[in-house]
This record gives sequence, structure tokens and C-alpha cells, in this order.
Amino acid sequence: MYKLIDGKAHSAALRGDIAEGAALFLKQHSRQVGLAVVLIGDDPASQVYVRNKIKGCEQTGIKSFAYYLPADCTQAQAEELVRSLASDDGVDGILVQLPLPKGLDAAKLLSLIPVEKDVDGFSQENIGRLCMNEPCLAACTPNGVMRMLEREGIEVRGRRAVVVGRSNIVGKPMAMLLLNADATVTVCHSKTQNLKKICSEADILVAAIGRPKFISADMVKEGAVVIDVGMDRDENGKLCGDVDFDNVKDKCSYITPVPGGVGPMTITMLLYNTLTAAERRAVK
Ligand code: NAP
Repeated sequence: MYKLIDGKAHSAALRGDIAEGAALFLKQHSRQVGLAVVLIGDDPASQVYVRNKIKGCEQTGIKSFAYYLPADCTQAQAEELVRSLASDDGVDGILVQLPLPKGLDAAKLLSLIPVEKDVDGFSQENIGRLCMNEPCLAACTPNGVMRMLEREGIEVRGRRAVVVGRSNIVGKPMAMLLLNADATVTVCHSKTQNLKKICSEADILVAAIGRPKFISADMVKEGAVVIDVGMDRDENGKLCGDVDFDNVKDKCSYITPVPGGVGPMTITMLLYNTLTAAERRAVK
């Protein structure tokens, strides 16, 4: 019998801890932990994400600073805003909501975020630190997966982990976090040969592919832990993951559902990273 990993419950418990940490920070430093969120343009999905991030801040006692720039703003205007947030002492974390409107250079803009305020964990320096297993702010979605594994008491050390997907925001940092936790890690992608065989050897299988129900039962080892990062739409337009949940679940010891698995952890880990950033800056 498999156990469903309840991302909503983990997220709620973690937000409780973050709220306690943020309250303690306020008491010790006479100011709130602060997160600046920059939204450029009017992409509807980005607007929803930003609203949810601001709501998360309100729930946990983190002060949010929201900045909106029009889609036709210049690169110089966007850079000026990020530079001013970089030097603002009340801002512990800076998040530039992606994707940016056409014509703006995202890499250049993100490079202006100081590493200690890079709460998305997307900067080259944070990724480098992650690879070297040094203190860093790790990307929120894979960091959330590690948190769930830890909170479920799932052993990672010495186990065979397979990550399907090698994007810079999910697959690669996921593989590094698992490696840093002493798993033996294989990373697969669209050019991988014998994918089915490799996946079916995994004790911990992480799917971050972006293809609905791609991981079938014959790709999963009996008793595996299956983590589904995917957020896809099935043939009826219904939200689903990269794992064929109904057919895979009975082979698993643990599995995350979609929705309600990895998804709810992502914004929570952003709040967690912001609190961590504030605490680290305060002792400098
Ligand atoms: P991405 O940048 O499109 O990367 C997808 C990865 O999957 C690539 O490395 C690609 O390989 C690999 N892939 C594609 N087809 C494959 C195949 N047939 N066999 C093996 N590998 C294959 O996507 P992403 O940004 O990492 O996101 C992945 C999924 O996670 C999406 O569904 C996304 O919506 C979801 N997501 C969820 C959250 C959350 O909060 N829950 C956050 C971020 C993303 P190549 O590199 O060879 O092209």
C-alpha cells in the first residue's frame, strides 16, 4: 500500500515554522523580514503567481514590496529598480517574476540581484555554491522536494535516485540536492537511451519533464518513492503530472499527487529562502 505525500499539509506545517521564525526576527531586529516582488508586464499566469507569493508573505509575517512595471518599460528602467532593491537594507529577498516581456534581457536583470538576496536561487553563484555543496539559496521547487522527503522520514543517503529532466530551474538543482544528500544520482533527458530501464532501477524517481502521464508503471520499481514535479494538462484539459498516477501508485511506497504534491511547496520554499536570507544578512 502506497503512502500519498500530502504537499498541502507539509506546506502548511512549514509555513507555521516560517511564521515563528519571522516573528522572532522582528523581535530581535525591530524590522520585518522583507521580500520584493517585481512583475513586469501583464501576463495573467504571472499575475496569479505574484498574488499568491504576496498572500504567502501576509500569512507568515513577511513584509512584501510589490513593484509593477509596464510591458514596454526599458531595460534601463528595470535595471534601475533591481539596483535600488539590491541596496535597500529592508529588502532581504528579490524576486523578478519570469518570463519577462520580449525585448528585456532576463539574464542581465537577474545578474543584478546580489547572491545573498537571490531567493529564487537562479543566479550562477548560487548554482555554483549548490554544486560545491556550500551554503546557498537553492531553487524553490527542488528544495521543496528535499523538504518533503525529509519530513516524511524517507532515507536518501546511499539510495539510487533518478531525475528525469535537466532544466536549470528543476532537474539540475534537484540532482545536485540529492547528490549533496548522498544519493547516487542519474540524470535523464530527451536523448537518454534505455530510459525505461534506468527509471525502473530507481529507489527515488523524480519526474520533471513537462509531459502528461509520461512515467508509466513499467518504468517504476516495486516500492519506489515517486516524486512528480510536472504540472501538465491531460487530453481533457485537466491538471495532471508527468506520472501516470492511477497506474503507477500501487507499485510505490510513496507518491506525490498532482495537484497537491510538489506544487504547494514551491512558494513556501520561497518564503523559507527569504527568511534564511534575512537571518544570514543579519549576522554579517
Ligand atoms: P523544461 O525546461 O521544459 O525541461 C524538461 C526536461 O524534460 C528537459 O530536460 C527535457 O530534456 C526533458 N524531457 C523532455 N521530453 C523528454 C523525454 N521524452 N524523455 C526524457 N526526458 C525528456 O521543464 P521544467 O521547467 O524543468 O519543468 C518540468 C515540469 O515541471 C513541467 O511540467 C513544469 O510545469 C513543472 N514545474 C512545476 C513546478 C512546481 O512548482 N510544481 C515548478 C517548475 C516546473 P532535454 O533537456 O533533452 O530537452
